[in-house]
Amino acid sequence: QYDVLIVGAGHAGAQAAIALRQNKFAGTIAMIGDEPEIPYERPPLSKEYFSGEKAFERILIRPAAFWQERQVEMLLGRRVVSVDPAGKAVTTADGETIGYGALIWATGGKPRELPCGGHHLTGLHTVRTRADADRMLAELDGVTRVVVIGGGYIGLEAAAVLNKFGKQVVVLEALDRVLARVAGEPLSRFYEAEHRAHGVEIRLCVTVACIEGEDKVTGVRLSGGAVVPADMVIVGIGIVPAVQPLIDAGALGGNGVTVDSQCRTSLPDIYAVGDCSQHSNRFAEGRAIRLESVQNANDQATVAAKTILGIDTEYDAVPWFWSNQYDLRLQTVGLSTGYDATVVRGDPAARSFSVLYLRDRRVIALDCVNSTKDYVQGRKLVVEGAVIDPARLADASVPLKEMAG
Ligand code: FAD
Repeated sequence: QYDVLIVGAGHAGAQAAIALRQNKFAGTIAMIGDEPEIPYERPPLSKEYFSGEKAFERILIRPAAFWQERQVEMLLGRRVVSVDPAGKAVTTADGETIGYGALIWATGGKPRELPCGGHHLTGLHTVRTRADADRMLAELDGVTRVVVIGGGYIGLEAAAVLNKFGKQVVVLEALDRVLARVAGEPLSRFYEAEHRAHGVEIRLCVTVACIEGEDKVTGVRLSGGAVVPADMVIVGIGIVPAVQPLIDAGALGGNGVTVDSQCRTSLPDIYAVGDCSQHSNRFAEGRAIRLESVQNANDQATVAAKTILGIDTEYDAVPWFWSNQYDLRLQTVGLSTGYDATVVRGDPAARSFSVLYLRDRRVIALDCVNSTKDYVQGRKLVVEGAVIDPARLADASVPLKEMAG
C-alpha cells in the first residue's frame, strides 16, 4: 500500500514523483515500471544514445541515489495488468496486488506494428526503449542496407544517425511528404532535401505490402510489388497508448485515457499523464488530443502531483518539441494542425530559418531550424495568438520580440 502509486517509470512517472517531493509531499511513493531501468530520457534513443555520443548513465533522468534519497521506491521489471478502482489496488502480471491512495497512470505507449506483420523477424526493429536501441546497435556491424518505414521524427532521426554510420538508408513514407502529420510543407521539403543531399533515399507515396524474409528480414515488399532490399528494417509509424487496464476498469477514453485539466481520469483518485492521456488543449482550439512530447509528460505530471496535494493548478502549457538531424536543430512551439497559411522567415538554403503557422491570421505555431532566437522570441507570439502582418513576420531583419504585443 502506497499513498501515491505511479505506473510507468518514464518521463511522466519520474516527473510526477519529483514534483510530489518538491512540493513537500511526505507520504509513501512507489513507481512500477515494466522496463528494468530507472527512468531515462527517451529522445536520445534516436539521437545521441543511438549515435554513441552519450552513454546510458548520461541519459538517466536522475541518478539512482536521487530516488533513494527522496524515498521513491522503484518496483521495476513489473507490469500492471489490471486496476481495481473500488478496491484501490493494481495487479501485476506476476499476480502481485499493490494498493494505492492515489494512482498516477504514466505508461506511454507501445510502438504501432505493421498491419502486415513480420515483427517476429530478426532485423526488424522499433525504437521506444533502451533495449530496442541496444538490439539495433548490436546488429549494426553486419548491416549495409537499412529501410526505415515512416518519415516521422523518429524515423528521420534514426536515418540521419545510420547515414552517419555509413549505412545505405531508404526511408519509405506513405504520404506525399515526410513529417506530414506534424509540420507544414516548407519544413517537409527542407528535410527531404537535406536527407537526399546526405545520400539517404526518400521514397514518398509508397505503401508497404509485407516484410520479406524467413527468419531474418531481407527486404520490404511495396504494394506495387517491388522489393526494397534490406538487412535491417526500422518501423517508426507511431505508438498505441498503453491504457487497456484502465479502459477495462471503466475509464473513459479511446485513443488514450481522457483526462480533465487537472489530469484526472473519470475514475476516482486515478490520474493519467504523458503520452497515454488525452486532454482538451487550447492550442488545438480545445480539441481532445494526445501529445507525445517531453514537455507534455513533464507538465501534466506536475499538474497531477499538485492536484493530489490540493494545490490549485491547471494544465495550460504551450506545447514545444525538438528534433536533431545531422547538424540541424529543430525547435517547435505551438501546434500547427489546422493552419491556413505559412510564412517562411529566413533562407532555408542558409540552413537557418523558421516557418510560422497562421490560422485566421493568428500565429499558432513556429518551427525553427538552427534558429533558437526565433524559437525563444516567437514563443510569446504563439501564447498570445498574435495577429501580425505576414510580410512583417517574413522580414528576418526584424526580431520577433519586437512584434509581440
Ligand atoms: P514513457 O517515457 O514511454 O514511459 C512509460 C513507461 O511505462 C515505459 O517505461 C513503459 O514501458 C512503462 N509501462 C507501460 N505500460 C506499463 C504497465 N502496464 N506496467 C508498468 N509499466 C508500464 N519527445 C520530445 O519532446 N522531443 C524529442 O526529441 C523526442 N524524441 C523521441 C525519440 C524517441 C526514439 C522516442 C521513442 C520518443 C521521443 N520523444 C520525444 C517522445 C517522448 O520520449 C515521450 O513523449 C515521453 O517519453 C513520454 O513520457 P511518458 O512517461 O508518457 O511515457
